[in-house]
Amino acid sequence: MEFGTRLGIIEFLIPAVCSGILFIEIMLFLYIYTRSRNKLYLSMTLLSFFAFIFVVGEALILTTGGWLHDARLAVQFHRIEQVGGAFFIFGLPYFLLHFLQLNNRFQKINKAITLVGFAVSIVISITAFVFPDLFISLRIPQSHWFRNEGSYGRGQEGLLYNIRDIILGLLIVYSMIIITIDILWHKKKRYLLLPLIGMIYALYSAIDDIIGVYMNIHIGLMPDMYYSRFSLGVTVFMVVSMFSLIKIFIDKSEFYEKTHNELIESEERFRQLADNINQVFWITNKNKIDIHYISPAVEKVWGIPPKKLYTDPLLWLDSVNEDDYESVKDSIQQEANGDLEYKINHGENGFKWVRDRFFPIKDEDGFIYRWARISEDVTEYKKAETELLYLAYHDNLTGLYNRKSFYEKLNESIVQAERSKTEKIRILFFIDLDRFKEVNDTLGHDIGDKLLVEISKRFEKCLRKTDYIFRLGGDEFTILLNRVSNEFDSNIVAQKIIDTVVKPYYIENHEIFIGLSIGISSYPKDGLTPDILIKNADFALFEAKKEKNKYVFYDKSFNNLSMKKMKVENCLRKAVGRNELNLFYQPIVNMNREIIGAEALLRWNCEDLGRTIPPGEFIPIAEDSGLIIQIGDWVLANAHEQLKKWEKSDNGKIKMSVNVSIRQFKQKNFIEKIERIFREAGFDDGSLEFEITESCMMEDPDDAIAKMKILNARGISFSIDDFGTGYSSLAYIKKLPIAKIKIDRSFIQDLMIAKDNKEITKAIVDMSHNLDKIVLAEGVENSDQMDFLASLGCDEMQGFYFSKAVPSDEFDRLLARKTLP
Ligand code: C2E
Ligand code: MG
Ligand code: MG
Repeated sequence: MEFGTRLGIIEFLIPAVCSGILFIEIMLFLYIYTRSRNKLYLSMTLLSFFAFIFVVGEALILTTGGWLHDARLAVQFHRIEQVGGAFFIFGLPYFLLHFLQLNNRFQKINKAITLVGFAVSIVISITAFVFPDLFISLRIPQSHWFRNEGSYGRGQEGLLYNIRDIILGLLIVYSMIIITIDILWHKKKRYLLLPLIGMIYALYSAIDDIIGVYMNIHIGLMPDMYYSRFSLGVTVFMVVSMFSLIKIFIDKSEFYEKTHNELIESEERFRQLADNINQVFWITNKNKIDIHYISPAVEKVWGIPPKKLYTDPLLWLDSVNEDDYESVKDSIQQEANGDLEYKINHGENGFKWVRDRFFPIKDEDGFIYRWARISEDVTEYKKAETELLYLAYHDNLTGLYNRKSFYEKLNESIVQAERSKTEKIRILFFIDLDRFKEVNDTLGHDIGDKLLVEISKRFEKCLRKTDYIFRLGGDEFTILLNRVSNEFDSNIVAQKIIDTVVKPYYIENHEIFIGLSIGISSYPKDGLTPDILIKNADFALFEAKKEKNKYVFYDKSFNNLSMKKMKVENCLRKAVGRNELNLFYQPIVNMNREIIGAEALLRWNCEDLGRTIPPGEFIPIAEDSGLIIQIGDWVLANAHEQLKKWEKSDNGKIKMSVNVSIRQFKQKNFIEKIERIFREAGFDDGSLEFEITESCMMEDPDDAIAKMKILNARGISFSIDDFGTGYSSLAYIKKLPIAKIKIDRSFIQDLMIAKDNKEITKAIVDMSHNLDKIVLAEGVENSDQMDFLASLGCDEMQGFYFSKAVPSDEFDRLLARKTLP
């Protein structure tokens, strides 16, 4: 018997053709792998390679053993075949690892099998050469080799050969199971069915082979074929798997093409958007520097053409303003979402504001591989913002810091003083302008505003750069001196301010004089907190205002004395604006108790203090503070208006008496004011009477008389109010152009008790009549008083007996009556 006698052409052809096919498969998948870098194709390449070794080994065994009858050579090739077969133990699970969509647990198992398979393959391969007898022993006589004609060397396989076959068989079964699982779970039939069928065939061929070797029985297909059944099985498996993989490859390529087209389309859309928008879009490398894309708007913002930036990607950094250069550079170096605003130089000495935002672009694993960046020209926005900020902290008229700044700066300054070792003193000036309201009222707000601007400039001239000046509103200013070594310094500054500010102003042909008062408190002597310093400077100001153009340092004694008055004064300042003032009218009757006139009397219901303040309390304060001017104007205008209403009604003609205080009367423009009221509300014809006190005449009688005469000519008459309490010089009154004398109510009230009063009253009535003056008795509270006054020949009366001062509508009802009470 000779080796291979029963081998037909088919036994030679099959392994030869199979190795050819497998060789092509190796080439094919190697190519696909190098193009796609997908490990699936690498695993297929390896698997094809191992199958190729196996099948080639088989082909060579047959040629050398069966054809050339060289058993020794055949055994060498048999070893090579073992290596190919052994590496299948690694190749198969490795392929499945990439081919199947196993869940985590199976994936782990499969990985382990792959690793173990790799080790086993190595061991088997080495063993095949080091201990070849474990596979086929050449020490067995050749005759044994060919004992069984159908097997050609089979039947003498060693232990390891069988172990490897068992492992391989188990592996195939295992592979079939997990492929089936994958088909069931992942529903990937499309790609998995073919390899499964191939595998079934391979398993069948292996079993067929083994049964053939040991029992010399062949089942199924090709019963006459004695060799290479398994080689055929493996090749069939490889070929059908190849179809599956090629299908995968084609599907993927189609998918990529589709996505690629979509990508091109979306990129086109992105470009259209990016190219037409004012924001600059950048896509840069991971280093935030190298540019992949930059939108053309960069030329508008930086004036750099995109082309230049592609070649010199840091060119834009050159135009960043040196103030911001470092921070911008830092933000590029950091791997963080930047959001920063900075200036870039633009034109000569000008700059633009740019806002930059960085967004990381991450890969599947969350690693940043690019940066998207959006830059915007925010110059306009910045300008508006700066302007708003400026407006929030500055007074729009004068450009000085405003009230809000005042509190902040004062706070800051005190904190600094606390920390400083050398500059521990701060000085606070509270400044109030005298007569500013008058300027506003007489010359108009326009001039008032211009004056404020001029005054502010003068203030600024007197100060150093480290000092601050604030306008809190109206004519209130504060100054904060930051660098003072002692209080004496502030004496000099205060005096300088007064000297500078009181000099005349020339605005639109008007020569304007303004006075001012300064109250001063100093840190830490007069207080440690802003609130206390402010309060104490205000106290000092209150004292300073008692005289003109004066500055006063805070003193502890101010506190108690002025507190109450100050509160009232502060409220009174706001009273007119807040509509808290009201005029009530008290009837004036003749001796028949008929109403012939009304005295306008002020009523003030102060909201802040929560009560009605009697005129006896607030009028002196109004006079002290000068507020009486403003209030007096209001009274005049309103009383006059009321008078006009009465004239229009058919209640008959009555007189209106208005109280005029000294300060009001002494105003230089008093007459013009009256004329203005007349012009605006209608001229008057002798229905208006001013009540003044004797003291009005004492300071400058000539001036007073001159004024009274002018006003007399305008139809306004005068009466002396509260007669008997002042100088009471009847001889003097004789000279005055007054029409009426009002006997103070203190005489009338005690009329029936004190004998003296009766006589005094009688004397006043008589003497007044001698001087041709009308006599009015104030404060008549009962009929006895009335009767007595009638007996004296008094002309007019006023008092609670007839009526208190009442609101205008109630007064209308009184007018409707014939007599009072
Ligand atoms: P006056 O000008 O002597 O006003 C008369 C005061 O006597 C009023 O007090 C009036 O309510 C009160 N009176 C009238 N009849 C009687 C009476 O029978 N018995 C008593 N006990 N009192 C009587 P009122 O309204 O409290 O005003 C007080 C002072 O305030 C006024 O004294 C006047 O000097 C001043 N005043 C009131 N309104 C004005 C104003 O518009 N301008 C100015 N400059 N001063 C005003
Ligand atoms: Mg009066
Ligand atoms: Mg009076």
